[in-house]
Amino acid sequence: METGSVASVTVALLGGWAAWTLTEYVAHRWVLHPRGRGRLATAASAEHRMHHRHPLATRLPLRITGHVALWTLALGSVSVVAPVVTGNGVPAPALGFAVGWALGYSVYELGHWRTHHRSSQLRWRRDIRRHHLIHHRDPGGVNYGVTVDWWDRVFGTHRAHNGGERV
Ligand SMILES: [Zn+2]
Ligand SMILES: [Zn+2]
Repeated sequence: METGSVASVTVALLGGWAAWTLTEYVAHRWVLHPRGRGRLATAASAEHRMHHRHPLATRLPLRITGHVALWTLALGSVSVVAPVVTGNGVPAPALGFAVGWALGYSVYELGHWRTHHRSSQLRWRRDIRRHHLIHHRDPGGVNYGVTVDWWDRVFGTHRAHNGGERV
């Protein structure tokens, strides 16, 4: 691969990952915590309520199903949509974007598990862990980002920790 295409695939991978972090925020805020009249209770939101009740429970078959489903969705979509748009196969950056998005999901899943099961000496890990544990204490409307806290800051749902929470 020439340098230009390596750079464009790298940018596409990072773009796919950033798009995942927004997907994660939107899904967590509006799909997993549906609110108001006419709220749509789904299997996913019921499962998420269980997670809030039992945050240490790890249902491996469900986790594996999630990875298979999201990777299939990402790679399946790009292999169907890209040839229609380009009329000429799947360009490497489009594949890079899809892989970055699906990798974002896998990183989120593993990071979320770690957040509940392991402490960390790394400051950024401790910060993002506190961020999520505050969401667990107050699922009524704050800290929906699990991988990053950017979107909570953008959409006004960020609650900072006071440094006193045990992590
Ligand atoms: Zn959690
Ligand atoms: Zn939640």
